[in-house]
Amino acid sequence: MIHLKNAEQLKLMKRAGRIAGEALLLAGENVRPGVTTKKLDDIIRNHIERCGAVPSFLGYAGFPASACISINDEVIHGIPSEGRVLEEGDIVKIDVGAKFRGYHGDNARTFPVGAVSNEAKRLIEVTEASFYRALEAIKKEGARIGDIGHAVESYCAEHGYSVVRRYVGHGVGEELHEDPEVPNFGRAGHGLRLCAGMTIAIEPMVNTGTGAVREMPDGWTVKTADGGLSAHYEHTVAITEEGIILLTQV
Ligand code: MG
Repeated sequence: MIHLKNAEQLKLMKRAGRIAGEALLLAGENVRPGVTTKKLDDIIRNHIERCGAVPSFLGYAGFPASACISINDEVIHGIPSEGRVLEEGDIVKIDVGAKFRGYHGDNARTFPVGAVSNEAKRLIEVTEASFYRALEAIKKEGARIGDIGHAVESYCAEHGYSVVRRYVGHGVGEELHEDPEVPNFGRAGHGLRLCAGMTIAIEPMVNTGTGAVREMPDGWTVKTADGGLSAHYEHTVAITEEGIILLTQV
């Protein structure tokens, strides 16, 4: 069931989104060789709590940290730890959610650690650009969920990359994950029609190799099956009568 948000609810989602966006930015400013993923998680948690919000991921289905932090061939759901130290040349994906007065904001980005390979740089750029392709595709009246996936997947394929199919974007609101599912693949003009009041996380997960992934024995971390690099970019987006708003944009 899809929960459409009214103006009052959207206002709260904007606050939640802003807090999640700020936490992500702050973490990104602290990405450098030698920093542990636990340190980044602490920065995120402190910011969210200082804002009077709660980290959405902490305790979600038993997740033990405030953010998901995934390095190189890890796609999503990496668990921050004291033992994971960022190294020059890594790419690190940070995924952050914040809950404020009952509403969630969810966003993610991929950061280079120091100087990275051209391939890594290009992957990050293409992943980010694929998100904005999707936004373009849903600006038109009567856009559908399939327009998002089609835009993301076709743009990534043009650049020789694959999208992950096992994990998808989602509605966001009083729950971190609500209907509808928002896949990064699909057919233009197909699927659910977007309408004002919908709030969804659009989140391309893009691999240099195949889109296949495997779950690690820790029960959380998801890696590329072929060991290739993966990048992630996400904003929580509101569809309104006045147009599209990026709720997690700071
Ligand atoms: Mg998400």
